[in-house]
Amino acid sequence: MKVLKFGGTSVANTENIQLVKNIVQQEAAHHKLCVVVSALGGVTDLLLDSAFLASQQQETYQKTFNLIEKKHLEVVKKLIPIQQQSTVMSFLKQELNTLETLLDGAFLIGETTPKLLDKVLGYGELLSSKIIHSYFTAEGISCSYKDSRQLIKTNTQFGKALVDFELTQQNLTQQLKEKANQVSLFPGFVASSVSGDSTTLGRGGSDYTAAILAAALNAEVLEIWTDVSGMFTANPKLVKQAIAIEEISYQEAMELSHFGAKVIYPPTIQPVLEKEIPIHIKNTFLPKEKGTVITKNTNGKNRPVRGISHIENISLLSLEGPGMVGIPGISKRFFEVLSVNNISVVLITQASSEHSICIAVDSKDAVKAKEMLDQSFAYEISLKRIHPVFVENDQAIIALVGDNMKNHQGLSGKMFSALGKNNVNIRVIAQGASERNISAVIKKEDVKKALNTLHERFFEENVKQLNLFVMGVGNVGAKFLNQIQQQKKFLKENLKLNVRIIALSNSRKMYFQEGGISLQKWEESLSQGEKADKQLFFEKIKKINLRNSIFVDNTANKLIADTYAQYLKNSISVVTCNKIASSSAYENYAELKQLSRDYNAPFLFETNVGAGLPIIDTLKNLIASGDKITKIQAVLSGSLNFVFNNFDEDREFVNVVKQAQAEGYTEPDPKIDLSGIDVMRKILILARESGYQLELDHIQNKSFLPEECLKTKNAEDFFKSLETHKAHFNQLFESAQQNNSRLKYVAQFDNGKASVGLEEIPAAHPFYNLDGKDNIVLFYTERYVDQPLIIKGAGAGAEVTASGIFADIIRIGNY
Ligand code: ADP
Ligand code: ASP
Ligand code: MG
Repeated sequence: MKVLKFGGTSVANTENIQLVKNIVQQEAAHHKLCVVVSALGGVTDLLLDSAFLASQQQETYQKTFNLIEKKHLEVVKKLIPIQQQSTVMSFLKQELNTLETLLDGAFLIGETTPKLLDKVLGYGELLSSKIIHSYFTAEGISCSYKDSRQLIKTNTQFGKALVDFELTQQNLTQQLKEKANQVSLFPGFVASSVSGDSTTLGRGGSDYTAAILAAALNAEVLEIWTDVSGMFTANPKLVKQAIAIEEISYQEAMELSHFGAKVIYPPTIQPVLEKEIPIHIKNTFLPKEKGTVITKNTNGKNRPVRGISHIENISLLSLEGPGMVGIPGISKRFFEVLSVNNISVVLITQASSEHSICIAVDSKDAVKAKEMLDQSFAYEISLKRIHPVFVENDQAIIALVGDNMKNHQGLSGKMFSALGKNNVNIRVIAQGASERNISAVIKKEDVKKALNTLHERFFEENVKQLNLFVMGVGNVGAKFLNQIQQQKKFLKENLKLNVRIIALSNSRKMYFQEGGISLQKWEESLSQGEKADKQLFFEKIKKINLRNSIFVDNTANKLIADTYAQYLKNSISVVTCNKIASSSAYENYAELKQLSRDYNAPFLFETNVGAGLPIIDTLKNLIASGDKITKIQAVLSGSLNFVFNNFDEDREFVNVVKQAQAEGYTEPDPKIDLSGIDVMRKILILARESGYQLELDHIQNKSFLPEECLKTKNAEDFFKSLETHKAHFNQLFESAQQNNSRLKYVAQFDNGKASVGLEEIPAAHPFYNLDGKDNIVLFYTERYVDQPLIIKGAGAGAEVTASGIFADIIRIGNY
């Protein structure tokens, strides 16, 4: 014999009930069945609402009642052939009349008692089971109706009555003696007290009904049919990557359900555990899927963490004070107060100093718990030996569960470091003595991020999801998005990195898509976005609160650079090709680096020098391995190199500059390159990354531009002035030629001092043959004394810059 339980969604409407019938028919061909059904989806909540409204004397309870009535009548009309409707219709009408009378009564006196509430709530299952019974019969299934209220006996703890197993067993054994039909149908959730009052088994209690039947009748299996394909590694509504657990032990399932895995009501496991009856969780909508089997022994021993669950709406209560240390009996009093007031404690911690006790309770109990505790400790509080109870609301508990966790070291370390890296603050930690559960109390707003972080850490074979928020989609930004799109599959398969773009912004619009923006049509999506606002952009990212978040700045804008600190302070990494932050006042640069360390959020700007060339990364590696930079010589301006490599007696200087701009080798404002400012910023950044505390105005700039060119205010005037002074530029060229040299714009850092300027480079020098837009850097260090470490290659252009940003993102992925 099997017991099958169908939940609210499985019987929510006619189509679903038809699916249930198919399953029952198939199984009834081979087994005798006890079928337990819940109320039609959502009905218990509606009943609760209507009772509440009535008790508040709000007339809208009638509307809710009408909705309940309509729902049931509609199902009957659609499901049962008209000739067979009359019996069930008159039953329904009669029962609904009684229900309405009960609600009217509650409205009149403005009150509901727990006893009345149980009577009202039970209607959901009573009505659904009657309808389904009629339907099964109409469909030719040999089916008898059993009223659980007459079989399952409880005490009078209304709302969550305790089962009298002995009496219940007697009743059910008696039933067994009668010749049973192939299918017996029971309403879930409802029971009655010895004196005959209707009771309920607690929200979600239909599972429990089914387990009680399975145990009493020695079923071979208890099947829980629901709307998901089993017990998942985490709540599938919050963690997209969660997967169904094939096998799990009773204890693990119990821990997971206690800590919020709603798919099974926690008390369900106890009755079947004692008789070792397996529970099989199956999906009504995908009956072919394997589902989850809960048994005594599972063979999946090798995975230490079996699932992650969470409970929201938690409040933390702490009792602290010097008067608690070494005084026996405080804990006893503390927990007695809670117990007497029927407040259940979800989690407990007490530090070994005994200075404080901290517990977690359901938020609905927090006010009462504080009041009662403060009252009980009033004397100690008045003497200031104990402080009044401190309450923190809007908390949640997140728990790792697995029988096999006890055999693995370092799991809590992994758990807390993964959470820490993602700025999830942990208030309280608890680990059960069985080591089957490690729980942490965190802020409710962090739940989704924490679940996904832990799921990624423990279940996703190290595939790490990187969530990118991209500011700037011009030359560099567009290329970057293109490269991500091309490499997405490779990164996932080879580097186990799943890179998603969650938001895009340019100066006009911004667009967010929490599930990831499709890169095939990002331009279209962005154009339909909302008005751009850099502060709102940040606020939204913070609110979305995703793990492994990276802010990518592809602009050259100071106002955007000014926003980095707030990202880092929220543990959001920053990757930027914008040089402004790192070349701003030293204090600002140093603060950003410090924030990056404090908040465990990388701040990477490899592309600030030499575009995609690994210059800063090499520098960091040299220093990390104990080397010291003594001197840097470099040609760092791809744009100036392009200009001087293409400028000769046949071409006019201004036209070469214009070409460089058109080909994307200059900054948006070419004067920034030609004045040397851009190179100054780069050598400044290299000096700082080498460990020197330098400011921009400490750098000597031997400009080759005439004064008048430097004073221009816009690109047009700048180009005009270049034209006016063409003789000056021709003269620079001729002089170099006469000296058998080439013009190169050189940056130097030596002995703590930096300078930039145009130089005539003789043929023997490594800079002489620098082509096109290439950059070159010579690092002289304590290890590279005579022969410098040389890095050379394309140092400008949107494509290589984009790939440098990409490389920084991969560095973060591997971090
Ligand atoms: P039913 O009405 O069938 O009893 P419930 O709504 O009580 O269904 O339970 C199923 C729901 O439990 C799923 O839809 C899912 O949202 C939620 N759930 C929470 N945690 C888990 C988990 N770890 N595995 C599966 N489902 C979970
Ligand atoms: N209908 C009840 C509830 O919603 C019991 C159940 O569905 O398990 O809580
Ligand atoms: Mg349920």
